[in-house]
Amino acid sequence: MLEKLIGQKIELLPKVPKDNERLCDICGGTGWLYEKGRGFIETCHNCYNGVLQLCEICHEPVRGMCMNEGCRNHWETERENRLLSKAVISSYKDVPNEHKEMMYSDDYQYNEGYFMEIENFIEYCNDEDIPLPEYVWSTQKIPLSLDASSIIESACEELHEDAYENITKEDELQEFLDDWCNQQSGVDSYSVNYKYAIRVDSK
Ligand SMILES: [Zn+2]
Ligand SMILES: [Zn+2]
Repeated sequence: MLEKLIGQKIELLPKVPKDNERLCDICGGTGWLYEKGRGFIETCHNCYNGVLQLCEICHEPVRGMCMNEGCRNHWETERENRLLSKAVISSYKDVPNEHKEMMYSDDYQYNEGYFMEIENFIEYCNDEDIPLPEYVWSTQKIPLSLDASSIIESACEELHEDAYENITKEDELQEFLDDWCNQQSGVDSYSVNYKYAIRVDSK
């Protein structure tokens, strides 16, 4: 068997590109490089397997997402439309308070895209010459919370093995923690939730 393999000429055939693929011009589509003189074959550094993936929009070779501005905008619009199709399109006043304490837009370059007043957002867009989008997004408040059982559990880790079992009044600690958390201010965080698309021109 071994004798048969030794001396056998390895012939590498180019791959057949699929739609949205193109043969790699460095290795000619084989995925391997042959170095004359050194006589060894190494994998092509320009492609994974002889073919290059092409962007569906501009047909340039890409790895992952195409970074061309036009193509990025295309995917961004598509993503936005997908989100819109699932969202409740609302005027500001119809959005429940807990979802509009903060709002979010990709166009807003401050505060990681979060703002409290639509007016400020409109002003920002005008100042920065950004075309005013039709919608901004609702958010979800993430309050500060402390979990009694995980606090107790980690406190018991260094104690004797039945210590955790012997703990009582865990619910009282939880009540205390909830109350304590509620007294803190400036700690609530917000995260975009795409549940409501809030019309920018609405009050
Ligand atoms: Zn290649
Ligand atoms: Zn592209």
